[in-house]
Amino acid sequence: MQLLDGVLVSGHIKEQIKNETLEWQASGGKKPHLAAILVGNNPASEAYVGSKVKHCEELGFDSTLLRLSADISEADLIAEVNKLNNDDKVDGILVQLPLPAHISPDSVINAIDPGKDVDGFHPISQGRMVLGQPTFLPATPYGIMLMLEYYKIDTTGMNCVVIGRSNIVGTPMTLLMSRASNPGNATVTMCHSKTKNLKDFTRNADIIIAAIGRPRYVTADMVKEGAIVIDVGINRIDDPTKKSGSRLVGDVDFDNVAPLCSYITPVPKGVGLMTICGLMKNTLLAAKLKGK
Ligand code: NAD
Repeated sequence: MQLLDGVLVSGHIKEQIKNETLEWQASGGKKPHLAAILVGNNPASEAYVGSKVKHCEELGFDSTLLRLSADISEADLIAEVNKLNNDDKVDGILVQLPLPAHISPDSVINAIDPGKDVDGFHPISQGRMVLGQPTFLPATPYGIMLMLEYYKIDTTGMNCVVIGRSNIVGTPMTLLMSRASNPGNATVTMCHSKTKNLKDFTRNADIIIAAIGRPRYVTADMVKEGAIVIDVGINRIDDPTKKSGSRLVGDVDFDNVAPLCSYITPVPKGVGLMTICGLMKNTLLAAKLKGK
């Protein structure tokens, strides 16, 4: 079993981004600038946004963090997005999800200038992805593709099972793994909450990508010997042995599944770090597309 090491791969990719950014600036380009909007104070969202801002500093990007109250109206939030759309200094905009229940995430995402849509969630970005046109890929699936590429895992002809059909992970992952490229070129089955006998699908999979949001849901009896397992899940569970009283686990029962696998991602230090890489690569691309 080989661990797909998010620390190693993200370190390598971040070095590349740093160098590319310096070259871009040396040729007269300006620093990429990411603006993040955080609505309310959900602790997980705070942590994700904090990490994105920290990564901007590390990579030599500018960043702006806009903190807005949980009771902001949808119209006011969209007005804030529009200000960033019209701000020439800003290259990329991300609105941290989830949003409070009274705000439609679709309406807010639709308001982002597609040229600044570095999360790759706007319908234009998603449509271009479906058509195989150059675009901002959603950061998590993009990061997973970068990881498979780094380890030179040839997924051609593999039987791939994606578990989950969200717009941000499961659906784009299904598309990317099936398109005519490597990584990709796999025969992909998308499973979801209404799939009957999930195990019948996963047991035949050469590669399983789990994006479910249920702690340790994929167990050893669901995985065939030699499979590649990509664990997207981030779930907090109680753990009285930890000072904080809790810890993070994935959607895969890592301890029992790992011995069966040819490759597996850990949680933490797996896909999460790759997501940041996807976002940062998109932000640099947005800056370059805007021009000098
Ligand atoms: P989501 O809740 O939008 O989607 C979950 C999907 O799982 C749904 O499509 C649903 O059909 C499917 N599902 C639920 N129960 C199931 C079951 N019993 N059997 C089969 N399928 C089932 O979640 P999401 O936004 O796609 O995120 C999934 C997980 O990935 C969460 O834990 C989230 O925190 C994590 N996540 C991690 C990263 C990262 O960077 N590592 C990024 C995004 C999301």
